[in-house]
Formats: sequence, structure tokens, C-alpha cells
Amino acid sequence: MSNAGAPRSGHGPRLRPSVSSLPAYVPGRPASTPDGRPAYKLSSNENPYPPLPSVQAVLADALSGINRYPDMGASGLTAALAARLDVPAECVATGTGSVGVLQQFVQIAAGPGDEVVHAWRSFEAYPIIVQIGGATGVPVPLTRDERHDLDAMAAALTERTRLVLLCTPNNPTGTALRQADVDAFLDRVPADVLVVIDEAYLEFNRDPEAVDGLATWRARPNVALLRTFSKAYGLAGLRVGYAVAHPPVAAALRATAVPFGVSGPAQVAAVASLAAEDELRVRVDALVAERERVVAALRAQGWDVPQTQANFVWLRLGEATTEFAERCEAAGVVVRPFRGDGARVTVGEPEANDLFLAVAGDVARGGVSI
Ligand SMILES: *Cc1c(COP(=O)(O)O)cnc(C)c1O
Repeated sequence: MSNAGAPRSGHGPRLRPSVSSLPAYVPGRPASTPDGRPAYKLSSNENPYPPLPSVQAVLADALSGINRYPDMGASGLTAALAARLDVPAECVATGTGSVGVLQQFVQIAAGPGDEVVHAWRSFEAYPIIVQIGGATGVPVPLTRDERHDLDAMAAALTERTRLVLLCTPNNPTGTALRQADVDAFLDRVPADVLVVIDEAYLEFNRDPEAVDGLATWRARPNVALLRTFSKAYGLAGLRVGYAVAHPPVAAALRATAVPFGVSGPAQVAAVASLAAEDELRVRVDALVAERERVVAALRAQGWDVPQTQANFVWLRLGEATTEFAERCEAAGVVVRPFRGDGARVTVGEPEANDLFLAVAGDVARGGVSI
């Protein structure tokens, strides 16, 4: 027994099988060109604007306190969100980015043997998070015009369904869900199935018929909202998101949160961003105007782009996707290819968008088959 406890070659600790087969999350590539020309990152739907001076000031202040753990309940941020949204504080749950909160949603609602229904293609984190939770993902293909197929999603519900994820505007296609369609869908969802509406790009949505998340949440005990400070608010690097959920659901989210997950700097920067909403809205409006310019230019070039309500556009390029991404990169813009499917291109600085449009124009004239 002299070598008891020694590793047997080829045998490490036994891990959960679902973990060893996890698909990798592909982050947007950073911007860089080998020859030092300007390069732009249009691959992660980030806000191209730097943090506001008022936000930078509270961040600088907060740094002097990081020898301490942050306020575990994020009480200042929770109170600010409750006031801003006009909801009880007990209905707000914060987390490490909305992806962190999403992971908690899966933990509280779905485990082995349970099903999570979501559209596909949609946010690439969904299948990963569902699998980490040990649940079974039920991806439902988008319609031909790149929208959630709510009829098919309703038909995909079984007695094992515990969670439904709706993404509006949808990443990566940009299409948004409408109130009437969501209402009709929710009427078909059993009352004990949790439906999470992921509104990461809410602030960019200009569709007058868009689903009103808060009103829908108020009207339906099984609906919750997922929101983030990463996109319109420009705090992607700080990792702070939140849910609006009915009290038992919000309490379960708080119970499953990583303790002290939202850092002190993230909490105060989020509060300062809520206070500076008017200034931030000017930036969001500029990005929306720029988005409309990009979409109009693409259509004039002959591209069939779905109407995006987010801060990105989607080109369904099929097998031409990888080559398209490479051509963009050679021109100085990094986009996000989904191999064999399409490319998602963030609306960024006008100079960056122009570089992308120049490549798209070349490709359109060259008659890439799509
Ligand atoms: C970017 C994104 C998020 C937000 O991620 P964070 O973790 O908050 O940075 C959530 N949902 C979708 C669909 C997204 O595209």
C-alpha cells in the first residue's frame, strides 16, 4: 500500500461528465493589427465611449476602500435600482454581470432532468450555462427572418420544462420581441415555469411595439427580467447586472449569489451611472443613429439585414463567414464570426463602422454567395 494516494497515471479526479463536454465561450477578439494601424474591436457589443468623468471619479474614490469586502447585499445599488424602476427593493437581485445572474437563474430553477427552452441562435452563453447547471437545453431555431419562433417555443414546452429564456433584442440577430406576441406566448406557458426576459440591449430598442418588460413582469408572477450595466451603461469591465423578479424568485437569486460578487467599485459606478442617465442617453441615442446609418448603408449595398434594435448588426454569411471576418480584420476591424452561420458586428466609432462598411461593400460587389 506504499503508493496509496499516488495518482494512477491517466486518472485525475473524476469530474461531472457535463463539465468535460462544455462548449467554450468564445470572447470577442481584442483589436490589434500587426503593423500598428488603428484597429477597432467590434466583436463584443461593448460601448465604445469611455466611462463618464462622474463615474471615473467615484471609481477612483472607491479604490481606496478595496482592502474591505464590499456591501454584500449591494444595498445602495439595490435601493437606487428600486427607486429608478419603481419596484420594491425585495424584487431586485444583483450579480456579477447579468451572465452571473443568469447562472443563478438556472441554479434556482433547473437541474438534471429539467429542460430550459431558448431560441437558437441566441446568446452563446445560454447553452453553456444550462449545461453547467446539469439541465438540458432545448434550443428552438429562429424563424427565417431571424426572430424567436414563439409558436415553436411554446410547442417545445414539456412537463420537464422549468425555465424559458427570451432574449430581446436577440443577440446576435438584433431582432426584438413585440408585446402582443410575448403576451400570446406567455398565455401558453404553465404558471409554474419561470420565464426570464433577457433585456441586455433594452436601451437601444426603438420599436414602439416592443415588449414592456416591467409591465409584463408586474402582470405575471412567473416572469423575471435580466438586465446589465455592461452595454448601454458602458461598464462591461466591472461585472454588474441585475434581475427584477417577484419576491420568492429574487430571494432565491440572492441565496445563490457568489458572496461579495459585485465589487465595491462596481456598485458605486452603477449607482453613479443611474444618476447620470441623461448624459448616457445622449450616447445611446448617438449609437442608435449610427446603427441606422450602418443598416441603411448595408441595405444600399444589397445586404439583407434584419431590423436590429441593438448595438450590433447581423450578416448571415453562411460558409463565407470566416473569410468575411478575416477581410474585416485585415481592414482594421475585429468582428465576431459564428463559423458557418454569420457575423455579428458591433456598432462602434463612426471610423470603425466605415471600415466595416467598406469591406461589406467590396464583398457585396464581389458577389459573395450568401
Ligand atoms: C452582453 C449580454 C449580456 C450581458 O452580459 P454581462 O454579464 O452583464 O456583461 C447578457 N445577455 C445578453 C444577451 C448579452 O448579449
